[in-house]
Formats: sequence, structure tokens, C-alpha cells
Amino acid sequence: MSTLILVGHDGRQADPGLDRLVGAAAALGEPVDLLLVGHGLEAVAASVAHLAGVRDLLCADAPALAEARAETLARQLHAVGAPYRRLLAAHGLGHRAALARAAGLFGNNFLADLVALPEADRCVRPLYAGAVLATVQPQGERLIATLRASAFAPCGTAAAPAPCRAVPAVAADPRSRLLGRSAVGGSRPELAQARIVVAGGRGVGSAEAMGLVEALADHLGAAVGASRAAVDAGYAAAETQVGQTGKTVAPALYLAAGISGAIQHVAGIKDAKLIVAINKDPDAPIFSVADLGLVGDLFEVLPALKAALPAQ
Ligand code: FAD
Repeated sequence: MSTLILVGHDGRQADPGLDRLVGAAAALGEPVDLLLVGHGLEAVAASVAHLAGVRDLLCADAPALAEARAETLARQLHAVGAPYRRLLAAHGLGHRAALARAAGLFGNNFLADLVALPEADRCVRPLYAGAVLATVQPQGERLIATLRASAFAPCGTAAAPAPCRAVPAVAADPRSRLLGRSAVGGSRPELAQARIVVAGGRGVGSAEAMGLVEALADHLGAAVGASRAAVDAGYAAAETQVGQTGKTVAPALYLAAGISGAIQHVAGIKDAKLIVAINKDPDAPIFSVADLGLVGDLFEVLPALKAALPAQ
């Protein structure tokens, strides 16, 4: 009855939020192992070895795994995952693709974006853009799922590091390979992990005016977000979309300018600690979810905020 968590990493350290996944799994009171897949994993292993509650680090280390795609990660999970009752990973496009494929290899079902594990065999996941929380019981032999890390409490730190155990590396799946990467967002923090997000909606009115949102974001060291309407109108890049069909964010501060607060947008910001809304319509629905609301014109308020707040 143990749990294996697939570790997301950039080749140097684990993705933020792994401590919360370990916290969620360890709370079930059963052993938790971590699976690291890649090449030259020493630094990544060192970054996770002291997470409290981790029993073993399973390291699948081979040159062919340096850029493991979803198909290969699924193969690796299938190769080492049989003894485990639960296979988990942080929710995100890459891991969702990998775990769904692993579930296929096991002949198991797959659950995405779990926000609670109240019991060993029950899970909670949001439906209808978060309007409903469904308690579901997986029917397969094991639970294979992605977890929304921000919904769980982090584990602590262990005094002694978890031991690293090499496991046989699978052959890379030849059906897809990485041809290249291009960085988006420049030096700004990654949206899903940012401490502050400044977001603009259709109310911004143009791609040029989105520069006001970006200027405040850069002033505060924040990530830039956008509503789907702003993305569809071409004011903002697709990868900045927040919401049901965009990214889920959990910053300490989410500042929404010219965003009405549609349920599909709010679904992506529920875990923000403080929501500040700027809207010229006092009846905009965003004010019902905002902790602080400012009725005003964003073209006046954003530059005023930038002038008043210290640069971060
Ligand atoms: P609007 O609703 O047009 O609101 C613009 C706001 O700006 C208004 O409240 C207005 O008062 C205000 N405003 C205008 N000018 C100013 C000014 N000068 N100063 C201050 N305020 C001003 N939406 C998402 O955001 N993310 C998603 O992931 C997403 N997924 C969806 C999935 C589905 C299946 C569907 C059906 C819809 C989805 N949507 C999503 C779309 C969603 O329903 C809304 O249409 C969208 O969020 C509206 O974006 P908005 O708030 O920017 O625009």
C-alpha cells in the first residue's frame, strides 16, 4: 500500500510544490517513494532527499532519458510502478499526459487535478470549473492521478536524506522526440509558480494597453496573466491565460484588472491568497470573490499603483 510520486524537474532541482505532494501522500500513513527520470540526476536527487516522509528515491538515469517525453515517462512508470498502490504527480500538461499513458499501460483508470485525498481510496476533484467538488473512488487496481499541489500542506524536512536506488532505465519511446525549446515570458516568473500575478482582461482594450499590466508586473517582479477574452482578442499570449482552460495559479497576490470574474476565470484563481480586483463596473462579479476591490478605471489605477508601490 505505498505511493510512488513522479518528480518534475529542470535537470537541477525539483519543481516547486513537490513538498506538498509528499505531504499529501505521507498523510495517508503509508510509505512514499519518489521516481526521478532523466540523466545526471545527482543535483535533483539532492534537492528532494530531505523531504520528510520519503522512504526511497528511485533514479532512472540514462542519456536517453535526458529529455523524456510523456510516452517514455509512462513506460518508466509502468516498469517500476507495479508494486505501488498509488502513482501520483503534480497536475500539469506534461504529467497529465504521462500518467494517463501509464494508466493505459496498466489497464487502469486515470484521475486528473485532485484537490483532496480524504481516505486511502477516495479522492476529491473539481468539476464544472470548480463549481462542484466530486468525491470519486477509483475502480482500477491502483490510483493513478495528478494532484493540484497548492491544495495540500507541505511536508517537513527530514534530518537524514532518503537513499537513492538506481532502477533500470527504459528505452526512450521513439514515437516522439524533442526538437527544441523556446522560452516564453523572458525573465518573468513562471505563471503557475509566481508569488504575485498581475492579470489583464478584455477591459484592457488593446495589446498596447496590456503594456500597463506588464509594466506593473515587472515593477513588482510578478508574472503576467490574462483572461481568455484578452487572449482571444490578441491582447495577451495564449500561455498567459488563467482559468478553467488556462493555468491554475496560487500566488500570494492576484491582481485582476479589467476582468469581469466569469466562473471559468475564477476557477483558476481560487487558491490565490489575496485577490485584488480593479474594475470600473461596481457590479462586476469579480468583486464577489475579491478580498480587495477598487472601482475605477484601470488606465488610471495601474500607473498610480506602479508609482505608489516599491519596486520588488
Ligand atoms: P469581460 O467579461 O468582457 O470583462 C471585461 C471587464 O472589464 C468588465 O467587467 C468591464 O467592466 C471591465 N472594464 C472595461 N473597461 C475597463 C476599464 N477601463 N477599467 C477597469 N475595468 C474595465 N475565461 C478565462 O478567463 N479563462 C478560462 O480559462 C476560460 N475558459 C473557458 C472555458 C469555457 C468552456 C467557456 C465557455 C468559457 C471560458 N472562459 C474562460 C471565458 C469566460 O466565460 C469569460 O468570457 C472571460 O473570462 C471574460 O473575460 P474578461 O473578464 O476579460 O472579459
